[in-house]
Amino acid sequence: MQIYLDGKFVSEDEAKISIFDHGLLYGDGVFEGIRIYNGSIFKLDEHLDRLYGSAKAIMLSVPMEPGDLKAAVVETVRLNELRDGYIRLVVTRGVGDLGLNPTKCPKQTVFIIADTIKIYPDEIYKKGMKIVTVSTRRNLLEALNPRIKSLNYLNNVLATLEVNRTDAQEGLMLNARGYVTECIVDNFFLVDDGTVVTPPTSVGALKGITRDTVMELSVEVGYPVEERIITLHDVYVADESFLTGTAAEIAPITNVDDRLIGDGHPGPITTDLMKRFHAYAQSNGTPVYTEEAADRSTPGARG
Ligand code: PMP
Repeated sequence: MQIYLDGKFVSEDEAKISIFDHGLLYGDGVFEGIRIYNGSIFKLDEHLDRLYGSAKAIMLSVPMEPGDLKAAVVETVRLNELRDGYIRLVVTRGVGDLGLNPTKCPKQTVFIIADTIKIYPDEIYKKGMKIVTVSTRRNLLEALNPRIKSLNYLNNVLATLEVNRTDAQEGLMLNARGYVTECIVDNFFLVDDGTVVTPPTSVGALKGITRDTVMELSVEVGYPVEERIITLHDVYVADESFLTGTAAEIAPITNVDDRLIGDGHPGPITTDLMKRFHAYAQSNGTPVYTEEAADRSTPGARG
């Protein structure tokens, strides 16, 4: 495996960063998880935009222009000869001293890993999953806005530890006021009388790129879409439910806190959106391999 690390490609064994890196010492940094489908990188510009946005929020300057970073991501995938896979792009504050102050970190660290990923077994996508509400509340906007995709995921790790003590596959996280925010590393959706509903990010959720895609696809098909404050009651009485994320894609939720959602099977709108998402993901993205890039630049070549 070839890993991009601070301007060079190195093997997995050589890909080492300092124990004084503040990404490790303080979780001070930002990241993205990005998918590769069918030889193209899905929504790469959107992921880069979000990365630069997260970095801006924590006053971390990404030490590369977006065009150069984009080229490095594409090159990492190409060198690893992946046609389908998952990219982890990380920017940390870099090496500093043992004090917290980021001004003591003169040079940020950038690394890119391209590998494969599988979050849930196939069965989950066919039959749906069980989730539980966890007692760990999503980070307060006023403390650490969940729109920042930072390296500090302890809030989510604590939630996962709770799920691990149950027979559920995922956790549902509420905010401090008790409103539904998102799943642990995925956005949450429900279907209410034909309307596709997800909480606004202002309740404390990441603005997921899969979330945005699902909302766009829904509008395209003609399903009404609403960002709405939702409570657990709304979830329990929903007709359908699913989660979305780069790694998980769209996964049906059929049981929440031991209440069956709808009839306990993945619903028709969920199933339809899963199909449409897969078709869309297979035929959109930044091509990695030059011969395909040339093909795709021909008008009409992509159908
Ligand atoms: N929420 C959280 C907390 C996440 O970490 C992620 C990404 N893993 C998501 C939602 C889904 O976002 P995306 O669709 O952009 O992957």
